[in-house]
Amino acid sequence: MSRYLIGIDIGGTKLATVVATIDGVILHKIRQPTEAKKGSDYVVSKLIQMVNETREFIQVSCSQIEAIGISCGGPLDPQTGIVYSPPNLPNWDAVPLKQIITQEFNIPVVIENDANASAYAEWQFGGGRGFKNVVFITMSTGIGAGIVSDGRILQGTNGCAGEVGHQILIPDGPLCGCGNRGCLESICSGPSIARRAKEAVKKQTNTKILDLADGKISAIKSEHVVLAAQKDDPLAIDLIQQTAFYMGWGIANLVNIVNPEVVLIGTIAIAAGELLLEPIRQTVQKMAMRRPAEAVQIRPAELGNRIGDLAAISLVRSPMNN
Ligand SMILES: [Zn+2]
Repeated sequence: MSRYLIGIDIGGTKLATVVATIDGVILHKIRQPTEAKKGSDYVVSKLIQMVNETREFIQVSCSQIEAIGISCGGPLDPQTGIVYSPPNLPNWDAVPLKQIITQEFNIPVVIENDANASAYAEWQFGGGRGFKNVVFITMSTGIGAGIVSDGRILQGTNGCAGEVGHQILIPDGPLCGCGNRGCLESICSGPSIARRAKEAVKKQTNTKILDLADGKISAIKSEHVVLAAQKDDPLAIDLIQQTAFYMGWGIANLVNIVNPEVVLIGTIAIAAGELLLEPIRQTVQKMAMRRPAEAVQIRPAELGNRIGDLAAISLVRSPMNN
């Protein structure tokens, strides 16, 4: 009898459920809006229904499912499986998600926060294949990260390891979503890049960034900065280089602490490419200690928009090929 895996990806706006083979080949997927405002009971019962629809579509019975992997916005505790009011899931307060799903299906369940699960997916299926020590960093609305150390997700005592975006680089710097000031995230996330761009454009209006935002400073986004830099706009290039400097600084700290073989950077780094990656590499080489700096490669992440589905599946697939 064939065996299968189920993956559940819980995001602030979308839910996805997938059925995959035990090797991680995705066979079927269903997507629905999260409707997080309707509360956890509503979302969880919708997820259960989606899991059943996904497996029934390809005629897989519950007894053929080996395990269920859940990738969800944190904070959450992977041991107890309790999800603690993630910022993107309002009305969720200490939801025992692992317990609910285990009881519903009577199948083993593994849950991880989405950044850690994404790192595990990049290690198994993407740019981290063949390495033992991998750091994955997303640069989007926040700066999230996951660390794979010796082939295992570094979880820490209660699931909070890898909060790379909240290392403080500038005391009394910009206010961060976590309540502190000067975190890497408060300088280099998408909204933080946009904020720095808006401040700079107020002083220097002759820039392609403003043209791309239809002439409205309030409409400037990080994408406009990346596009303008790719069109050789000097102000945009300055902003990208500042971003690369702080990213490089943060990554140099990580390189000294974790000593990874590869650091994979997603989202904005994929869009900006070498324009951002090369100055990050130069900063890391300057700021990290020589031996760990020599050992590390800094590359764009590879899975792109497949990462959500593979993140949940990677948690329950046995990584025999890595
Ligand atoms: Zn912070």
